[in-house]
Amino acid sequence: MPIKAHLQVPIPQVPLPTYLFTSPSAPLSDKPTFIDVDRPETHYLTKRTYRQWSKRIAAGLQATGLKPGDRVLLFSGNTLFFPCVIMGVIMAGGIFTGANPSYVARELAYQLQDSGARFLIAAEGSFDTAIEAARIAGLKDEQIFTFDDGQATFDGTGKDRGSIRHWSKLVASPELGDRLVWEELGTEEEANRTIALNYSSGTTGMAKGVEITHRNYIANIEQVFFMMKGDPEYQSKTTRARWLCFLPLYHAYAQTVFTVLAPIREVQVYLMQKFDFLQMLQIVEKFRITDLWLVPPIVVAMVKHPATKKFDLSSVERAASGAAPLGKEICMGFEKLWDGRVNIKQGWGMTELTCAATGWKSNAISTSASVGQVNPNCEIKIVRDERGLEEVKHGERGELWVRGPVVMKGYWNKPAATKETLVDGWLRTGDIGFVDKDGFFYIVDRMKELIKVKGNQVAPAELEALLLDHPAIADVAVIGVEMDGDEAPRAYVVLKEGKTTTADDIVTFLDSKVSKHKRLKAGARFVNAIPKNPSGKILRKILRDQAKAETQKV
Ligand code: AMP
Repeated sequence: MPIKAHLQVPIPQVPLPTYLFTSPSAPLSDKPTFIDVDRPETHYLTKRTYRQWSKRIAAGLQATGLKPGDRVLLFSGNTLFFPCVIMGVIMAGGIFTGANPSYVARELAYQLQDSGARFLIAAEGSFDTAIEAARIAGLKDEQIFTFDDGQATFDGTGKDRGSIRHWSKLVASPELGDRLVWEELGTEEEANRTIALNYSSGTTGMAKGVEITHRNYIANIEQVFFMMKGDPEYQSKTTRARWLCFLPLYHAYAQTVFTVLAPIREVQVYLMQKFDFLQMLQIVEKFRITDLWLVPPIVVAMVKHPATKKFDLSSVERAASGAAPLGKEICMGFEKLWDGRVNIKQGWGMTELTCAATGWKSNAISTSASVGQVNPNCEIKIVRDERGLEEVKHGERGELWVRGPVVMKGYWNKPAATKETLVDGWLRTGDIGFVDKDGFFYIVDRMKELIKVKGNQVAPAELEALLLDHPAIADVAVIGVEMDGDEAPRAYVVLKEGKTTTADDIVTFLDSKVSKHKRLKAGARFVNAIPKNPSGKILRKILRDQAKAETQKV
């Protein structure tokens, strides 16, 4: 029997901007919501100014020709205005898509083309990459805007780059922004309208645009609220909680937590433009951060790095981790940093599940590596077969399938992949796990191809396609191997007859073609054949077991 959440929480049938801001004109708080850690006195947004800037961007996008359903791609690290672009696009009736700011031009061009982006807003610092990608994807100059951290908009000095306009040209005047009203949604069909394409390779193949709707976001936030209810800190809007955001806002995890959940609870979010370990520790100390939203490699670093103990982290009250597996030993080491006063809780989710499908109630204590219980309104079944019909016995391992309002609408323009992944309303996750007698889930393995490096997705299919362009490679399979408490991609290579090359040459060949986290950090290995099933599917488990055996020998 699927494990059902005991509780159903009502999901308001409203557009995300209404859910977040009540209405286009309702009075809103002037307490800072997003604060730039480098210039906290002058660079912050309150909930009121968050809405104001979002409305100005929405009005500007409409004036520039954005039509309902058009996609806008933002290619930038975290800035104060990142959330405003997301909400602005949604308020204007468009679809937001964010790209990893470390992408090389080829990767960005893929997302531009796949999403059919009407506009590209690209960080000033990544201008050259953005232009190269835009050329590959066939975007015209008038479809591109440069984006910066808001300094220019504040003092009015934003400069165009030739015929590429500065994004301040996209922002409508305060008067026009004031007049903007977003469309209210009445029907269920409207609530199921796509508002974001978050890219994920899912269980197989290349990255795909995951269609996330108004209802998906709102359902996920309502579920997290429910889980937070036991904590008096989140009962009132006078919370003193201070969250730190260094996770990338283009990804589902940070997007949900920081751009929607935090402002709804009127939590202050201290925003780092990009992650730096020592700076993160300094900021926790300086701003007396109360909550840490983490991914496993950062938890590991905090446990292992001697610098951690040099900072005063006593303000931290809560910590959460997700996006990749985290062992119990490391959790215990982490908690020791506060003599056990802070309890780290893991959640499990996936871009295709908006953000999370399991979690912990705030007043529960996690003493294991469990990812918690199923979220309200959701069901999880654990199955042993491809069609999801044979459920395993309680406590046995199998693939987790999820059903509920957080499940994506589908993959953008990929009906075959959607059909493979969504079966009778269930999402097959490609994750292996089990559930204990109290309904707590454990994730123990992954049967899908996906590799996660520092919480970032790496799709083996993408790397394999690139490696097959190497003149000496006849066949190749890429898998993730455990390395320094994280995963790293490794290629298993079959050489063409009569050709020779070195493992280093293969690694270098890929380096310039991909962003840093996709590089073959675990090297390349030569093999006589890639293990495959009769229909040609790579049997990655054999390679993974081989890699594990090799590591154990060392
Ligand atoms: P993404 O779509 O980038 O969020 O990646 C989702 C995948 O990350 C999941 O399908 C899992 O394989 C992995 N993942 C997420 N959270 C956890 C967790 N708490 N433990 C183990 N793996 C996780």
